[in-house]
Amino acid sequence: MIPETAIEMLAGKGYEVDVSKKDGVLTKEELISALKEKSYDAVLCLLTDKIDGEIFDAGSNAKIFANFAVGYNNIDTVAAKERGVTITNTPEVLTNTVAEHTFALMMAIATRIVEGDKFMRSGKFKSWEPLMLLGADLTGKTLGILGAGRIGTRVVHHGVRGFDMNAIYYDIKQNEYLEKNYGAKYCNTVEEVLRLADFVSIHVPLLPSTKHLINEERLKEMKRSAYLVNTSRGPVIDEAALVKALKENWIAGAALDVFEHEPSVASGMIELPNVVITPHIASATLKTRVKMANLAAENIIEFLEGKEPKNKINL
Ligand code: NAD
Repeated sequence: MIPETAIEMLAGKGYEVDVSKKDGVLTKEELISALKEKSYDAVLCLLTDKIDGEIFDAGSNAKIFANFAVGYNNIDTVAAKERGVTITNTPEVLTNTVAEHTFALMMAIATRIVEGDKFMRSGKFKSWEPLMLLGADLTGKTLGILGAGRIGTRVVHHGVRGFDMNAIYYDIKQNEYLEKNYGAKYCNTVEEVLRLADFVSIHVPLLPSTKHLINEERLKEMKRSAYLVNTSRGPVIDEAALVKALKENWIAGAALDVFEHEPSVASGMIELPNVVITPHIASATLKTRVKMANLAAENIIEFLEGKEPKNKINL
């Protein structure tokens, strides 16, 4: 299901809208057969839909696939380009919500919120103790950003303005806005960020160049007292290596909203006390999900009216 408002927008323009009746992700075969049912003019797809050449060919009349997400790693962009298919995404409308969730995760792992909650529920709280469940402060610490785009920038905003953090970042391009407005310092390598940061937050898109950006060697570069937060895409971290790092205390902890093989998590992760995990919900507020759905619908409407959709990806 997607927010009804988007369907109403499309229907309001006189378009006939079919919504998958399956409660869950369509398999490749189901997607292909659904797309062959009618000669669709447009497809609104989710990040859980793997869209490749065979899918484009099954819905060959649809020359726009509007993704309900800012990340579009679920779509084979080479196959789209070859077939002249327009791809759109939903940037900006979710930036603040994802940045807030990133901070919620950062605070949850540093201040041991989830461990404390479990402790309470299991009846272990007998009395206040000076050294019980000690966590870490955020204030004044160094916040390291990998991928200083829209979301990375907003996370820096919260860190610098809200917690007096010092921001450092690595990106393939320098972000002057971030440096001017938040005093963020550019690092020439991922390693430099990892060596200096107390909190590392990942905001790169999933690309061949960012798959396993965080691997065993790089986890070893981090401070033993540092925390790793990931709200980008799961495969950016080698999750088996992360489990090893958390088990052997190479780092203090991790907080993750995305996983390498969603919806599964790496073996050994669930049992670990020094990790906080959420089920890919960083953009999940109703307000934001409505905006994402409406933006995807708007992109379709613009395309079908012969205009260039606002969020067309340069393939
Ligand atoms: P963005 O395009 O504004 O920012 C991405 C930044 O990463 C850019 O500045 C880019 O230059 C940089 N980058 C690209 N390749 C890099 C590399 N190899 N090394 C370092 N930096 C690199 O995107 P955004 O709107 O900030 O979103 C970032 C990502 O967050 C999305 O691609 C998506 O995968 C993820 N996301 C996840 C959720 C969630 O629900 N957990 C929600 C929204 C977005």
